[in-house]
Amino acid sequence: MKYDLVVVGGGPGGLMAAKTAAEDGLKVILIERKKDLTKIHRACAQLFYTHKITASPDDEAGKAHADGYIEPVSIELFSDKCRFNFPGPGFSIDYEGSYTPVYHWIDMSPSKHIIHRHKPYNKVWALYYDKEVFLAGLLASAQKAGAEVLTETIGVGAENTPSGVRVRVRGKSGEQTLEARTAIAADGKESDIVESLGLNKDRTVMTSPLKVLHYEMEGVETNLSPFAYLWITIPSLNPYGNFGMSLRRMGIRAVTAVTGGTLSATTVLENFMKHPNFAPWFRNARLVRKRATSGGVGLRTPIREPVSGNVVIVGDAAAPVETWIQGAVACGYQAVKAVEKELNGQKGYPEYIDWWQKAFAFNDPHYWKIAGVFSLNRICTDEEIDYLYSLFHGRVGCAMGFVNKNLELIKKGRPELYQKLIKGMR
Ligand SMILES: Cc1cc2nc3c(=O)[nH]c(=O)nc-3n(C[C@H](O)[C@H](O)[C@H](O)COP(=O)(O)OP(=O)(O)OC[C@H]3O[C@@H](n4cnc5c(N)ncnc54)[C@H](O)[C@@H]3O)c2cc1C
Repeated sequence: MKYDLVVVGGGPGGLMAAKTAAEDGLKVILIERKKDLTKIHRACAQLFYTHKITASPDDEAGKAHADGYIEPVSIELFSDKCRFNFPGPGFSIDYEGSYTPVYHWIDMSPSKHIIHRHKPYNKVWALYYDKEVFLAGLLASAQKAGAEVLTETIGVGAENTPSGVRVRVRGKSGEQTLEARTAIAADGKESDIVESLGLNKDRTVMTSPLKVLHYEMEGVETNLSPFAYLWITIPSLNPYGNFGMSLRRMGIRAVTAVTGGTLSATTVLENFMKHPNFAPWFRNARLVRKRATSGGVGLRTPIREPVSGNVVIVGDAAAPVETWIQGAVACGYQAVKAVEKELNGQKGYPEYIDWWQKAFAFNDPHYWKIAGVFSLNRICTDEEIDYLYSLFHGRVGCAMGFVNKNLELIKKGRPELYQKLIKGMR
């Protein structure tokens, strides 16, 4: 057996797994399909979430919306670096790139009524950081500790054997099989390894494929704080998703369209920038770079038990949508600790499964019940969104949470809208 561990996929989950395994003395190889694994082409908001985006403890819809990885994390700032602490699993990662604090999340209607997702300006809610620098740091540590890294190579499939696992890979020189005692599938949302192991059969596809387009722009002019993250709902332009805006570095903002169905993300985003209420923001704006994500089969329910024989599934490969960067690295670390236990004759895999089920909000079946009603833009017109947001303008909470709690008020003011909401939220 040549390797203790083969890791397929060099995103945050796979790199953390390779680094942890190599530092702990395992013979590990990482397989990545990209040439330069630190370059990211996919859209990613690149926020390190420091606390949950929950409006209030009893706001069920707020809780459901964005709580991916729910174990606590903290950030220490030094003059030359940041340290991301993961007290649950018990590790820290140093990061030496640029960062910008985000204090505020604002939900906005077409006519700019706003709801504050949490109390404004009381805490840093997230830190924008540079994922490429973060990945480069993990890669350098993994290689320093002795991990072998094979780029421009695709993990095609994995097969369990009585003594370990065979991973088929395809590179420039053709196909070969790697023999190992264990493997980790960290090849992201449309994982080939998960598919080859038959683990998608029991998963339900919940949505049409999502498309995301980011424009990073200079010269965007709004009268809102640059340190706020904006989430704008305009059903007439985008019935499948929303528009986002975040600060990247001083002066650079990312303007984002998240959409689906047959709509082109470019058309959706360009139309947003021409909308009469938002066009003035972009009058003097200049495009700096684009990033996009699309394809796949849509959001699938998570894998309940992400271990198959000697293969452990980590990060987005096992998740409905996003484990987040921080959730993926926590998975990579925990998966290696599970593998090490198993290699020492202990029961590491049941512990990993138990941790996975508790560490991510989307593993709670209740999450899906609430998340299902999270689509006001599929139910309402622009005017109706404006009406609903105007009822709660300036308050701290989550639009859907307010709607759920104030159905009687809406019934009195707009009985026809009430009927639509009841029907649409079912
Ligand atoms: C629009 C959008 C915004 C987001 N915003 C944030 C955010 O603000 N903060 C945050 O923390 N997270 C965010 N995320 C989520 C975050 O990007 C992911 O959760 C995280 O990157 C998952 O890490 P991973 O290692 O599991 O998978 P990935 O990052 O997907 O890495 C998988 C790796 O495997 C490689 N690969 C794929 N298939 C193969 C194969 N067959 N063989 C070999 N290699 C393969 C890929 O090239 C890639 O390098 C966002 C995601 C999207 C789509």
